[in-house]
Amino acid sequence: MRNGMVVGNWKMHGSRAVNEALVTALIESRLGSEFVRVAVCPPFPYLAEVATLLRGSSIALGAQNVAEHDKGAYTGEVCADMLADVGCRYVIVGHSERRQLYGEASEVVARKVGRVIQAGLAPILCVGETLEQREAGDTLEVVAGQLTSVIAEVGPDGFAAASLAYEPVWAIGTGRTASPCQAQEVHAFLRGVLVEEGVAGAEQICILYGGSVKAANAAELFAMADINGALVGGASLDAAEFVSIARAMG
Ligand code: PEP
Repeated sequence: MRNGMVVGNWKMHGSRAVNEALVTALIESRLGSEFVRVAVCPPFPYLAEVATLLRGSSIALGAQNVAEHDKGAYTGEVCADMLADVGCRYVIVGHSERRQLYGEASEVVARKVGRVIQAGLAPILCVGETLEQREAGDTLEVVAGQLTSVIAEVGPDGFAAASLAYEPVWAIGTGRTASPCQAQEVHAFLRGVLVEEGVAGAEQICILYGGSVKAANAAELFAMADINGALVGGASLDAAEFVSIARAMG
């Protein structure tokens, strides 16, 4: 059985009632095992309540973002210790929507990953190229830069707690998925960067694919050697779709 992880990024969706129905359906499906970890990442206001709903299940809780600072006078921000306090295990950092819509630079992403690790949580670092960058042949250079800037901040030992998500920007929420071969090429390259950088356990680090993953394409993506699961946006809001994706992982 391969180790893997399937994570639902709910983005800015949900309500107390909708979340309860979704989580109840996921728990009833008995998702998550020793080999395949499953997590959901609701918006901040719902984290504590979803943590309570998930208690006793094998589904973990994650957050979609975190402050680059520790506690203090940062109005509107949420720090990593607070996420740990409400029961998060994972934190998505550097999602392309944060990089593009909120101007999060690589240095900010790196500091955020550092905070997450210091709080004892596991970061899921998102990397990925835009369509222009892919068409210019810059994909590998772009994702390597996004990854090495974080390793430079947290050190190769620090990064051992992390997972990676390769999310080509042109495939997120567009219905356009990278082909299994296109994704595998980048995943294998990223694994090589982890090895070169001396990250402990580089061969075991989960490299998730994200970008319009759904039940219909999950199995062919997961069949690739270096694709260890998925970060799922839109399809994670539909219990049946998300369950099928997680089951495709094993
Ligand atoms: C995401 O938001 O991380 C994502 C991959 O979205 P979608 O699955 O909707 O493309």
